[in-house]
Amino acid sequence: VRVLLVEDDDRVASALTSALPRHGMTVDRAATGRAALARLTGAEVVLLDLGLPDIDGIDLCRTIRQRSDVPIIVVSARGLVDERIRGLRSGADDYLVKPYDVGELVARMHAVRRRRTDAPVPRPEVVRVADVEIDIRRFELSVAGEPVALSRKEFHLLSVIAAAGGDVCTREWLIAEVWGGPWPGANRTLDVHVATLRTKIGRPGLIETVRGVGYRMVRHDTLSSAD
Ligand code: CA
Repeated sequence: VRVLLVEDDDRVASALTSALPRHGMTVDRAATGRAALARLTGAEVVLLDLGLPDIDGIDLCRTIRQRSDVPIIVVSARGLVDERIRGLRSGADDYLVKPYDVGELVARMHAVRRRRTDAPVPRPEVVRVADVEIDIRRFELSVAGEPVALSRKEFHLLSVIAAAGGDVCTREWLIAEVWGGPWPGANRTLDVHVATLRTKIGRPGLIETVRGVGYRMVRHDTLSSAD
């Protein structure tokens, strides 16, 4: 996921520039509104600080929206309700108040991208990672050519993670997708299901833990059968 980070504060920018790649994102930083407009092409999510030196953030948000359909998350220290409303009215998809948790920011970035692409997303039918083959439509899993039996929930969970194509799936999202929503024991149940999947598949490295955020499927070329 290519993130255009529009932020004039060096400290905030460098924290995100080092944190976001750990969540599978690449960061292109623009320190001014002008630079942001010049770099808009190719961005898949825009993180927009409202307090910029050259252009008012709300105006910039409106300009970006006129030029592109890219999801925009406004990030600002201004927590006032009317600022929030102005941000959303000017075309932002979501609004986050500083200071915020990086895990929450990542989850929201995935959420706005999903909403934006909900209709046309072609879900893959078969996902292959090394010698693991997940046939999502037929509810079949094979490892090294041998079928592996999973429970319905286990398969559902595996297929949701696999369909994300290496993007991080937040705990909240997985719980919502597979179990229909949070409940007091949800986190524990999720972890137990992931542990069972790792054991049954026999490739513990297939599903990676992203600490404090969720899980993701490992990239094809980094999985070894001895893992
Ligand atoms: Ca600022």
